[in-house]
Amino acid sequence: MAAKQNLIQLLCDLIALPSVNPEHETQQSEAPYGEGRVADYVQRYFQPFGVRLQRQQALPGRESVLVWVPGADASAPPVLLEAHTDTVGVEGMDDPFTPRVEGGRVYGRGACDTKASLAAMMFVLRQLLEEGASLPRGRVSLRRGCVLAATADEEFGMTGARCLVESGVTFSGAIVGEPTALKIVAAHDGQMYLKITAHGKAAHTSMPQHGVNAIYLMDEVINVLRRRADAIYPQRQHPLCGSPKWTVSMIHGGTSEHIVPNHCEIAIDFRVIPGESCQGMLEEVKSWLAQDLDAAALERIEFAEPHKTEPPMETPSDHLLLRGMRAAVAGVTGDAQVVGVPYNTNASHYAAAGIPCVVFGPGDIAQAHSVDEFVEISQVEAAVEILKRFLLESAASLS
Ligand SMILES: [Zn+2]
Repeated sequence: MAAKQNLIQLLCDLIALPSVNPEHETQQSEAPYGEGRVADYVQRYFQPFGVRLQRQQALPGRESVLVWVPGADASAPPVLLEAHTDTVGVEGMDDPFTPRVEGGRVYGRGACDTKASLAAMMFVLRQLLEEGASLPRGRVSLRRGCVLAATADEEFGMTGARCLVESGVTFSGAIVGEPTALKIVAAHDGQMYLKITAHGKAAHTSMPQHGVNAIYLMDEVINVLRRRADAIYPQRQHPLCGSPKWTVSMIHGGTSEHIVPNHCEIAIDFRVIPGESCQGMLEEVKSWLAQDLDAAALERIEFAEPHKTEPPMETPSDHLLLRGMRAAVAGVTGDAQVVGVPYNTNASHYAAAGIPCVVFGPGDIAQAHSVDEFVEISQVEAAVEILKRFLLESAASLS
């Protein structure tokens, strides 16, 4: 009972420390921004155990914290337990940083995305450190060491994850904490934002024949992409993630009612399935337009460099990380489900660096980013038991 209360208190403490990603700043909300309060809390939480604590700058003034828990085999690359410390904004919420425990749930901003995962990971490691108190200072009964990374800036640029990869540390596997309702996410889509601009020629609309209408050009571009993508994408199916997806999500063009528009721009969001790449999808789009537009139109089309490219993630079903997590989840809940999801996470970057990943945690993605964000306490408790089982029973067998 005491342990249960400590776990819920830990989660409430994290919710009470605002950590809204500064990129989610709005004029209407007065929320305090940045991850520093949570980073300091994580550091203080582990200070008594004498383990190595490392701050890692993701962006100026915004740091991740790494907690290094050693195992008996110092030569084996550690397992990574990772959860981001930032949250989305709090627009429309009444009291986002006052955690509320009610009906077996904890409510508040970050409750499920992803402070419940962070709390479960912190709680497990603290338990292991306490149980290993008879061992030399800072050592636990783990064969393979473990690193908890509480990372900054997942909700915008995934900069904390990028910096962790760039620091060159190698891991035998990663569990990335996100609200998966205790399902094991073994694959997820990647993502790419692409801007395409059509350059026309302005003219007075009383003499449109002297101009080149950039909006009409863009209409041709969109039609080519729709015809091609609608025919081809549904044929490409990933067993867990389905087919690639794309959406023209913004369009801007023209300057005045009486001027033939010389400029039109669209933004496209692509979802990239495992086994494919952002670069591959970009090249494909370019080749469709090269084949289907006439040369004069093609000359007036410009591609910007994609400005958000998150690779897809996939871990083979027979991988030891996945087997270990299946055994741990089945052992605690009796039902281990392995799924794919259409959103992407920090695991994009770990997977791209060759680290086998699963995404796993308490809470439902349906409540993430919502004004009514909550997590079921029973799921947070189960996550603790699952992570503990995995670390004690399966982590050592990773290669
Ligand atoms: Zn998240």
